[in-house]
Amino acid sequence: MKNFDIIVIGGGVAGCGAAISAARRGAKVLLAERQGFLGGCSTASLVSPFMSHKTSDGKVLVEGIFAELTHRLRDRDGMLANAFDSEIMKEVLADFVAESGAELLLRAHLTDVREGYTVTFNGNTTIKAKFLIDCTGNASAAAMLGAEFLPAKEYQSVTLMFDMAGVDEERVLAYAKTCPDNFLYPKMTDFDDPAEMSRGIYTVAGFFDEVAAAKAAGEYCVPGDMIFFIPRPRRGEVCFNTTHASVSDPNDPFELTRAERETRKQAREIESFVRKYVPGFENAYIARIADEVGVRESRRILGEYILTEEDVVTGRKFDDCVCRSAYPIDVHTMDGYIKDGIMSSAPPAGDWYEIPLRCLMPRGMKNILVAGKCLSATRPAQGSARIMPNCIAMGEAAGLYAAEKTR
Ligand SMILES: Cc1cc2nc3c(=O)[nH]c(=O)nc-3n(C[C@H](O)[C@H](O)[C@H](O)COP(=O)(O)OP(=O)(O)OC[C@H]3O[C@@H](n4cnc5c(N)ncnc54)[C@H](O)[C@@H]3O)c2cc1C
Repeated sequence: MKNFDIIVIGGGVAGCGAAISAARRGAKVLLAERQGFLGGCSTASLVSPFMSHKTSDGKVLVEGIFAELTHRLRDRDGMLANAFDSEIMKEVLADFVAESGAELLLRAHLTDVREGYTVTFNGNTTIKAKFLIDCTGNASAAAMLGAEFLPAKEYQSVTLMFDMAGVDEERVLAYAKTCPDNFLYPKMTDFDDPAEMSRGIYTVAGFFDEVAAAKAAGEYCVPGDMIFFIPRPRRGEVCFNTTHASVSDPNDPFELTRAERETRKQAREIESFVRKYVPGFENAYIARIADEVGVRESRRILGEYILTEEDVVTGRKFDDCVCRSAYPIDVHTMDGYIKDGIMSSAPPAGDWYEIPLRCLMPRGMKNILVAGKCLSATRPAQGSARIMPNCIAMGEAAGLYAAEKTR
């Protein structure tokens, strides 16, 4: 049986951060991932861009492996401002992990874990480790070991992201400039040049009038009163974050099956809608649909500390800080995107809050950390902490801690 100091389970951005930092610190590390590629939400669910890792006045809060990852993506022409190409992300992450010295195990679905630790993948491959870092996004390993979780009466809605190609971006923005009240973003002024803007990053949240007209005509039933998309690095390609489905339990495959089916139908409905109603999309088509719905919120562990909404909005600091963030509380309901419904409270202007290491420590358990979106936090606090730069930072810190513990 193979032996490792540390097994990182789950190769999303948190798991990659954990494996890279632990291996660089000299630990013998295995990174195990159930898919045939790395990235989790950022690839399998087509999530982009990186949400802000800065304060409202531009102080950088997350550096380290996150900064290196963005440089590597840029070197491969895989980034436009904070948006990235999901295929290049898969390759960059795999190279980054390999260079760190961590061993990679793909198509490895965790099926059992026993104290000690003896970890089984796919029901037939058993590996031993001194320390586990659970980055499964739903704390699967911790659940198998009997960890406690914070109660949840409801969960954020799930979204099936998809990319459209063949978009005349300049035409979309030229139209947006003519009717700013029809948009939450972009709010263009006389000085904004659609041609120049279309070569960079922008957010489109709107087409309220078109959505209302299509709904009135019975041609559009997707939740919400607007569509939301941002560009991918390749010209003419945009990434839609517009479908929504509610799930009563994001770990119930029956629920997820319904959500996958519902949101896929929504994606095709959005494609028909934009081709008919949205200037610039006349010849656009869906180029790719995510492999699986993106789950924003799943199990949250009961940790040695529970990050709260008050910690976020007051900008609380901790001695055992592992990540700093100023991202607002962003909890999606099943109503989709609605005009006044995006984001709520954030830390004070120019300030940030911190996530303590104790939020990654399942209460009463030793030699295991849980990093990423399933940290120990209340629902609103998780709604802020869950963004990708934070998950990478949490993973990076977990990897360093585990490497020290297994020395
Ligand atoms: C629709 C949507 C839009 C979002 N928008 C943004 C955005 O614009 N910007 C931003 O910064 N953040 C955004 N987020 C949040 C962010 O993408 C996620 O919170 C973050 O990527 C989570 O990273 P993670 O590594 O914790 O978990 P995940 O990305 O979920 O990774 C978990 C990994 O574990 C693997 N795994 C699970 N179970 C097992 C098992 N049993 N055995 C082996 N492997 C397993 C999975 O395959 C996966 O690769 C969004 C999230 C969603 C869902």
